[in-house]
Amino acid sequence: MKILVLNSGSSTQKSALFELGSDPSDQPAPPLWEGKLEWDGDKETLAVKNANGKKFNAEAVVQPKDRRSSLAKMLQKLWQPPTQTIRDGSEIAVIGHRIVHGGPNLYQPTIVTPEVKQAIAEVSAIAPLHNKAGLQGIEIAEKLFPRKPQVAVFDTGFHRTMPPCAAVYPGPYEWFERGIRRYGFHGINHEYCAHRAARMLGHETSSLKIISCHLGNGCSLAAIDAGKSVDTTMGFTPLEGVMMGTRGGWVDPGILLHLMRADHASVDQLDDVLNRHSGLLGISGVSSDMRDVLEAAGKNNERAKLAFDIFVHRLQTGIAAMAASLGGVDAIVFTAGIGENSAEVRRATCARLGFLGVQIDEGKNSLAKPDVEISTSKSAVHVLVICAQEDWSIARECARLTRTM
Ligand code: ADP
Repeated sequence: MKILVLNSGSSTQKSALFELGSDPSDQPAPPLWEGKLEWDGDKETLAVKNANGKKFNAEAVVQPKDRRSSLAKMLQKLWQPPTQTIRDGSEIAVIGHRIVHGGPNLYQPTIVTPEVKQAIAEVSAIAPLHNKAGLQGIEIAEKLFPRKPQVAVFDTGFHRTMPPCAAVYPGPYEWFERGIRRYGFHGINHEYCAHRAARMLGHETSSLKIISCHLGNGCSLAAIDAGKSVDTTMGFTPLEGVMMGTRGGWVDPGILLHLMRADHASVDQLDDVLNRHSGLLGISGVSSDMRDVLEAAGKNNERAKLAFDIFVHRLQTGIAAMAASLGGVDAIVFTAGIGENSAEVRRATCARLGFLGVQIDEGKNSLAKPDVEISTSKSAVHVLVICAQEDWSIARECARLTRTM
């Protein structure tokens, strides 16, 4: 069956087409077709490619309200040259959507119904940028692929198993009763990485304690015991935790009170600072992209060096916290853009994890092509680099869920 996946972010809309059997194996399949829309202010870039190596690229100036039609145009490239891959939309069996926030009630992959859409919309108050983009994707897919089943897969779902001591904020208990709790994100890839790591090590997932470090534009760590999430660094929203591209992660909430009192900062200004002007970008002043930060640091840019140092420091303390939640660790996984590609980040991070018994082989680290192990044979902890497979994991959930329909 051909499964189309839509992965909506706040500033990107990615899509991929997979062909999966009704009982898919655990081995990720490469996509038949991929599309990516990216927005930077009013500049939009579109990049589409298919498995035959055909490509389509375009740049345009668009208003945010035009993003729906951009998404429809991107999806039409599935059956339009030069990237044509299917005859028409009827060939698509099911459409899967990554929905960032499932809130308190949505955690299992589920067929999209009007009630599910309503529930996703209600959670938009917590994760406005991401959930609204997810709903837009659902609407467009309903128009382009009428009567085809659509499946919502939630980034928060995997962390549902966190014990109350990890999930409840130590504010008033009433917060928890109102749904203000730690949810955690990147669950689709954290779960995939735990299973992939177990397979690479030749163990059952049930016998392993794993720390998964998802380091992309957004970054989070997960503590996974016997295949279940027991702790994670992101919380009520994707703002908590380790340092990221444009988000700072853990900051003292007292700073926000201070800015409101001293600078009369508005909610929108704080939202903007926390989501778009902090993290690697905020500290370096250079870029949110680790490649640019590393290049500037290499040219002795002091703020870029500081940004890198804070990123690594927060990662180390985050890993130590996850190890404590697990009561030990068998494997650490590096995944997503930075985790897969930056030998510098892995080297600097692991350099202070000797107390956990972590020892990496620098030769293997610097040449790492995921999926691969980079720890030495003496290391007490396996260190693995694993390619993120969010979209394929969503496609597999779609195949599983619709198998019996
Ligand atoms: P997203 O969270 O949007 O899915 P990705 O997982 O693609 O993001 O990660 C994007 C980030 O990966 C970029 O912002 C960049 O910082 C980082 N990255 C990609 N390639 C490299 C590289 N070779 N070295 C360092 N960082 C890299």
